[in-house]
Amino acid sequence: MGATSGAFPLEKTTIEDLASLCKVLWGWSDCALCSVQNPCSGISSCSWHRFKSLAPFFDHYRDMTKRYLPDFMGSPQALRNHADLREIIGMIRSNPDTPLSDLTNQCFHGSGTAYPSPPATTDQHRAFSLALHMMSMVTVAAHYSDIDDLEAALLPEVWSDNVSPTRYLDIVLQGQNSVNGGASLGPAQGLAQSLEVNRVLKWLKAKRLSKIAKLGFEPTNNLNDHLKLDKKRGVVKLFRHAAFLKEQLLASRLAQEKTATSLFEGQMSRQYALEVLHSIQDVLFPPDAKSQAFLRSLVSEQEMDPDCTLYNRSEYELEGEDDVTYQWLGPRLMDLYEELENPTPRGLLDQWLERKSRARHVMLATVIGVFVAVFLGILSLIVGIIQTWIAWQQWKAPPGNGQ
Ligand SMILES: [Zn+2]
Repeated sequence: MGATSGAFPLEKTTIEDLASLCKVLWGWSDCALCSVQNPCSGISSCSWHRFKSLAPFFDHYRDMTKRYLPDFMGSPQALRNHADLREIIGMIRSNPDTPLSDLTNQCFHGSGTAYPSPPATTDQHRAFSLALHMMSMVTVAAHYSDIDDLEAALLPEVWSDNVSPTRYLDIVLQGQNSVNGGASLGPAQGLAQSLEVNRVLKWLKAKRLSKIAKLGFEPTNNLNDHLKLDKKRGVVKLFRHAAFLKEQLLASRLAQEKTATSLFEGQMSRQYALEVLHSIQDVLFPPDAKSQAFLRSLVSEQEMDPDCTLYNRSEYELEGEDDVTYQWLGPRLMDLYEELENPTPRGLLDQWLERKSRARHVMLATVIGVFVAVFLGILSLIVGIIQTWIAWQQWKAPPGNGQ
């Protein structure tokens, strides 16, 4: 493909682009027996039958790439077509521990590259951020990122020149909560908490959270937002792309890379991916009829990936992974439990009652209560006096006396 010169060079995505994306992301290989349009059905050695189930992920890819806008200041654009983006993804996959500045040098500078002169630094960073996002589904903030594209409150750590892709994802996934003032995530703190978390899991069905704590659920494209609780709006974020996570796990299982600490052994920690999937399929929406109906409503009304209703663990899990401990997501699950125990008042009546129940209002209520009791006492005394007077009158002159 030649260089595209439109304002949005990645505006159009072909089915071939998506097929090549699968190859570079997960190592899918060509199959002699089928095509993307007519894949083999149910043959485990051929990956292409899973192509269709990745549709929500492909939609997100289209959405992200079509908005890529290069700098137009005389320098060449960092991404001229989808192949350029795949080139960068491949480069990150093979060099997960190389600092960003070395990666951009390797890609854009020097005689061996496909660029006549290096693109603007902002554009280089934008291209690498987009590539890393599509590989991990984590929100990646480029050095000079367009703030408009990201909700300011959720803005994660900026990817600095001296930080490698692996390290960057580690920072974002571990440190996001502490940045936002909440509990810090991470295996070390998580392990200590896991017993406590295990104890409360059975209470955290989505149905219960919705009924008791009045919480709603909102799909997100950002892995780092999964299970994030927005108390003000009464909303819990759910990572949308189940098929993407399963594909990551499958790719890493096939490579027999099992690790809980390095994010790029199989591109993302198996542990993290498993926790996200299990938190949806075991904790929030276990396989009972009511939970399943609730999950299906999120699929049809809120565009959760339909694949999240497919409980096909044996296809991507390794031995011993069916029982997951929540080392990363523990603090967020505890936040949900806390919200269940002490729901934030949301309705108008709830808020009124909440205000009235504070200490000084309790005092005020007691004083009012005393006055009411005294008033009622006086009232019943008056009634008593009247009754006595009537009885006395009747005794003096009984009715039917004839006088
Ligand atoms: Zn095939």
